[in-house]
Amino acid sequence: MAIRSKLVAGNWKMHGGTVQNRSLLTAILAETEGLNGTDVAVCVPYPYLPQAQSLLQGTHLSWGAQNLSQHEKGAYTGEVSAAMLVDFSCRYVIVGHSERRALYGEDSHTVALKFKAAQAAGLMPILCIGETLDQREAGITEHIVAEQLDAVTKLMGVNALVKSVLAYEPVWAIGTGKTATPDQAQEVHAFIRSRIAAYSPEVATGLKILYGGSVKANNAAELFARPDIDGGLIGGASLIADEFIAICCAAK
Ligand code: PEP
Repeated sequence: MAIRSKLVAGNWKMHGGTVQNRSLLTAILAETEGLNGTDVAVCVPYPYLPQAQSLLQGTHLSWGAQNLSQHEKGAYTGEVSAAMLVDFSCRYVIVGHSERRALYGEDSHTVALKFKAAQAAGLMPILCIGETLDQREAGITEHIVAEQLDAVTKLMGVNALVKSVLAYEPVWAIGTGKTATPDQAQEVHAFIRSRIAAYSPEVATGLKILYGGSVKANNAAELFARPDIDGGLIGGASLIADEFIAICCAAK
């Protein structure tokens, strides 16, 4: 089996300010260099992309955004296109975060269109998929995750996943302090990988699948040790320098 390098990506959500961003990024930069091939990225609010670019350009850290428009350009007030993110040298963009799905009505088809727009511009989409607590309790986790994944593979073909990252984020674990156990997470990650392997074993083997949902310094190592967990998408803990750095170190 090919060895996949790990990725730890911070999702700052709607947090930050130029002063605190500078000290957070400076600390992360200083403490995460040379982590045995682990990639580290931060997905910041749009207004801070120029700041991320100026602090991180030429370093080992990558940066990206948390959303984008599915449209290329036009009369879409308040929206941000993939090309605009490329203008600030973003590498990644999160698509389909559960907060976008739940609070802004993004369905799986819209998310797939965003995925497509991101890739067309040369960005690496981080596609978030995951079930709610009700869905888990109803025993339909795999069905939900498959539907969210299939929306992208039906539109784009399975090979499109080569230039993407998946993030399994059980909605009930996001920002709640409830982490999926390593066994629960591994089970869904293995399901996702096997579903992709049914179409292309090579794509499945090479694909990074991150876990997200209340990852902290004290649970990261155990999660990241599971065979199908290739790092994490980190919300709250990505805003605390020591915590995020420790999570990055756990991905070694
Ligand atoms: C997220 O927002 O993607 C996330 C995983 O948040 P948290 O780590 O705070 O649960």
